[in-house]
Amino acid sequence: MPGGAPDHVDVVVIGAGAAGMAAAALCAAEGLAVVLVEKTASVGGTTATSGGMVWAPGDRAAARTYLDHVIGGEDPGGRRESFLTHAAAAVAALAARTELRLQPVARYPDYYPDLPGATLGGRVLEPAPFDGRTLGRHFARLRPPIPEFTPFGGMMIARADLAHFRKFLRSPRSALVVARRLAAYAGQRLAHPRGTTLVLGNALAGRLLSSLLRLGVDLRFETAATRLIVAEGRVRGVIAGGNTLSARRGVVLASGGFSHDPALREAFLPAPARRFSAAFAGDGGDGIRLARAIGAGFTRRGADAAFWAPVSSFTRDDGSVAIFPHTVTDRGKPGSLVVDGHGRRFVNEALSYHEFVRAMLAAGMTRAFLICDQAFLRRYGLGPIAPVFPRPQRWIRRGYLTAAGDGAGLARALGLDPETLAATLAGFNADAARGEDRAFGRGNDAYQRHLGDPERRPNPCLAPLTTPPFYAITLYPADLGTSAGLATDAGGRVLDDAGVAIAGLYACGNDMASVMDGAYPGPGITLGPALTFAYLASRALCGSEVGNE
Ligand SMILES: Cc1cc2nc3c(=O)[nH]c(=O)nc-3n(C[C@H](O)[C@H](O)[C@H](O)COP(=O)(O)OP(=O)(O)OC[C@H]3O[C@@H](n4cnc5c(N)ncnc54)[C@H](O)[C@@H]3O)c2cc1C
Repeated sequence: MPGGAPDHVDVVVIGAGAAGMAAAALCAAEGLAVVLVEKTASVGGTTATSGGMVWAPGDRAAARTYLDHVIGGEDPGGRRESFLTHAAAAVAALAARTELRLQPVARYPDYYPDLPGATLGGRVLEPAPFDGRTLGRHFARLRPPIPEFTPFGGMMIARADLAHFRKFLRSPRSALVVARRLAAYAGQRLAHPRGTTLVLGNALAGRLLSSLLRLGVDLRFETAATRLIVAEGRVRGVIAGGNTLSARRGVVLASGGFSHDPALREAFLPAPARRFSAAFAGDGGDGIRLARAIGAGFTRRGADAAFWAPVSSFTRDDGSVAIFPHTVTDRGKPGSLVVDGHGRRFVNEALSYHEFVRAMLAAGMTRAFLICDQAFLRRYGLGPIAPVFPRPQRWIRRGYLTAAGDGAGLARALGLDPETLAATLAGFNADAARGEDRAFGRGNDAYQRHLGDPERRPNPCLAPLTTPPFYAITLYPADLGTSAGLATDAGGRVLDDAGVAIAGLYACGNDMASVMDGAYPGPGITLGPALTFAYLASRALCGSEVGNE
């Protein structure tokens, strides 16, 4: 046997993202002996760099109506219903037994706010800020956010503070908030390599790590699971890091889906979307491959096998390649537009990131250009380029930003037809000045307006581009995570190709086929199910199954 005598525990969990850490913590809280193996040297995976939003509807009937309209009414195996039934209980269990605290976001519309059952806020939860110092030396084990989201060398900015950082030169109140945050950050940096006030996905991952430490979970870093052990018709353990881990009750797969598995990307993602992923490089499809090797089924429902977002990319000063997801910070703001390779608009830029990329893929596009003017760049920034003091020359030298004194110059620099781009800009500007996008309806619903600028009237998403120089960056279709995955039942048990549960094997997070069937109905629709099915797996493993009552 590899590695000599096996370790005997109750549960082995594979992968330390939101799903794996939640499952491990909840099992340990019930007194089970748990080993959590993590392939890399830190916890957090994609979760740590995410927005940390958790869609966990308390209003089951309205949420069901909404999902039926976004996704369609079919729910094979009752998995979606299971999510709706248990999401609130999962959040409550995590609050009671772990240090994860999630609070409702008062205003954050669902992504199709005009469909029946949609809400304008309250359905999505966010992690309460977390003080990373409470992790002590283990703080170094928490994967940091991507540098482009942490200005001043490591400061996290809360969602609610973003607007203050954009307008601190114009608003005394914002100046005060920013001054307070900077003072706190400066103090933290005296003793720590990055800011310790954690928010968003880093707070979520930090809170779960803290829980694992307190609950005595045996956390093994740089330990990749490479095989499942099956005996007498049941999964009995895992080979990980060359050792045998024997699991009396079962194994939970939570290795983050197949964003970085070239073969599965090729098989399931359309060619234009295969080049870039914003997900963590460790999400290499391991859990799916391990389970497939023992006969597990794979489910892909709906048109999309991944959750999409447009990204831009550049090489950092240290030589690493940055992938910047354009989810909520710039596309919907007034004073910008996106054109295709001909210089024409092709989509409502303020739609959700998933719908935006769907439009790119429907047109077979491998890239598009996000264009703005100088006023926009100063006010909102662009991707990783900070607002207020944007220093565009630095980004032009890097080859990330293209600039020109007028639309024709920009078209030539981008290889677009100058006349077409000029006509696009003229048409867009005329409509934007009136606050009405006749071509695509930008700013027509509450979600889009939420992404806009409330100070801009009459349409928070529209302003003409009038202040040269004009700037452009290139956007590419990419995934934030994969949605096709292992076939499971309503309790997170992995099913075989015949649809029969494999005893002792569970999946959650992106290893499990999403209950959203490739749709993206609202903020937090991957982490909400990830935590819920982690909870359901833990209930089954602890011997107290729950039904869809
Ligand atoms: C920029 C961005 C923002 C996002 N914002 C949100 C949001 O606000 N709300 C939301 O719901 N979703 C969001 N998402 C998507 C969400 O972050 C992911 O879907 C989610 O974090 C996946 O969680 P997970 O636990 O399945 O995987 P991960 O968090 O990626 O964790 C998987 C872990 O498994 C480890 N692993 C892999 N293979 C092995 C192996 N063989 N052995 C041991 N360990 C292994 C990996 O190293 C990794 O640590 C966002 C994504 C991105 C990129």
